[in-house]
Amino acid sequence: MRLIISSCLLGVACRYDGRSKPSAAVRDLARKAEVVGVCPEAASGLPVPRPPAEQRGGRVLLADGTDVTEEFRLGAARSLAKVRARPAPLAVLKAKSPSCGVHHIYDGTYTGSLTEGEGVFARLLEEEGICVVSEEVVESCKPSVEHPVAIVLGTGLGHLAK
Ligand code: SF4
Repeated sequence: MRLIISSCLLGVACRYDGRSKPSAAVRDLARKAEVVGVCPEAASGLPVPRPPAEQRGGRVLLADGTDVTEEFRLGAARSLAKVRARPAPLAVLKAKSPSCGVHHIYDGTYTGSLTEGEGVFARLLEEEGICVVSEEVVESCKPSVEHPVAIVLGTGLGHLAK
């Protein structure tokens, strides 16, 4: 089984603040799969660390209003090319991120508030037909055949709930 995983969840210090956001459950899952690690923001050429960005009105903006939409699109496109070279049926992406967020992202007010929406890269993967979930799904995963991650991985997630 091959999986696409946000690099920061694997412990890579690629976040805007120069840190990682490791998830024990995701790393556990990664040990049992072939992993395609991706960080679309790093792939864009943006530096680490870099100013935080959020989506607003269909654009990606820094807190000072600087528009970095094209940089985010470039990084997402480069990461998609990496994924296409090593196809995988499932992606586990960092929740809430303007690039990787799944179903909910920060709302552009820099208040920690969320709104419905997809990260720029998450949306590309979904358009590619890849099942995309956040690490929160993996962390809460129970060994149910009805769970979307369990469906993709069969019974291989049972160990996560033990
Ligand atoms: Fe993590 Fe995605 Fe942000 Fe990179 S772009 S630091 S992988 S959330």
